[in-house]
Amino acid sequence: MVRMTSREEFQRTIVYGEAAIGQLKRNEIPAYPRHYELWYTYCAGFNHALNKAVNDILRTRGSITLDEIHQIYGQFLSPNRLGDRIDEVGSKISKEITGVVDAMESSLASTSLYCNSLNGATSELALNATDSGEVRRIVDTLIVATRETETTNRKLEAQLAESRRQIAELHESLDAIRFESLTDELTTLANRKHFDQSIERSIQQSEESGETFSLLVTDIDHFKKFNDSYGHQTGDQVLRLVGLSVKQNIKGQDIACRYGGEEFAIILPRTPLEQAATVADQIRVAVMAKELIKRSTNENLGNVTISIGVSCYRRHDTPASVIERADAALYLAKRTGRNRICTEVDLEFDRNAPGRVA
Ligand code: GH3
Ligand code: MG
Ligand code: MG
Repeated sequence: MVRMTSREEFQRTIVYGEAAIGQLKRNEIPAYPRHYELWYTYCAGFNHALNKAVNDILRTRGSITLDEIHQIYGQFLSPNRLGDRIDEVGSKISKEITGVVDAMESSLASTSLYCNSLNGATSELALNATDSGEVRRIVDTLIVATRETETTNRKLEAQLAESRRQIAELHESLDAIRFESLTDELTTLANRKHFDQSIERSIQQSEESGETFSLLVTDIDHFKKFNDSYGHQTGDQVLRLVGLSVKQNIKGQDIACRYGGEEFAIILPRTPLEQAATVADQIRVAVMAKELIKRSTNENLGNVTISIGVSCYRRHDTPASVIERADAALYLAKRTGRNRICTEVDLEFDRNAPGRVA
């Protein structure tokens, strides 16, 4: 196997760095760290959404402005991007609400004026009902007041329709933000925050319904060595591939999350231990079967394997206790050879389990 030496890594990153400086010069963008980070990310090519946004602009105009750079940085790189977007949606919602309240107030004011006109007309009619000219004048006044009220009401209707449309759009934005805040960017699986919420919910549901669920915890074997050999970015591609193997071997209600760096956790609702072990083995085999080809050089990197620990919900479990059993089973799988799965039942037969008297 070809080893990626630190010299190679040095040269590769210098190439990206120089290309980034080239882009800053070409587009006359000041070389502040944020601007450099954006172009470095672009030249390294690992953030596809960012590259697409930049390329769309370059394709139409050939160059990119500082404002566009700020906008793209805010959208794809800024550590505060979710918070900023929530603020933006929040201020748009409050603007819509203010608009609706103003329109309703002016409609209420116009309705109250209209009531006054009606009351005035009723009293005047009672006094002057015999004079036909006077009756005509009162009726004309009423027609004008009615038209004015109609106009105000129509404006209110239009404003409400527009607000309804805007609020539906903002709803979608909030859903997208919520989704993004619970998604792991690299693998597009659920993230740790989502996992923490899901395992709580699964335990609660099992307590209420008496149904069980299983938990799989996976860890890539000797991944540190892989990163040392081929570089962190290639390691990231492998993480994507493992994520994909997980996704392809689960179904419907199952929840797959990136639990930590190179660890995934999968919740299988209504699944007993034995069945969960079968799913785990399918994932293990799928990962092992994938041949890794480095995109940039077409180099064949062989394959990686994973080990998996499986636990199953028991009455009075807490998130920590189910995770602990899956973790202990994973540790056993590592200790007994790797590229294998162990379940919490295997722990009972493990002579070397912590605290066990052999
Ligand atoms: P083991 O078989 O015992 O699991 O050996 P290991 O080398 O995989 O050990 P461990 O699970 O402790 O490895 C953690 C390594 O995983 C450290 C780091 O090199 C790598 N890693 C963790 N997170 C990431 C990540 O987000 N991207 C990449 N590329 N590598 C990661
Ligand atoms: Mg690990
Ligand atoms: Mg590992």
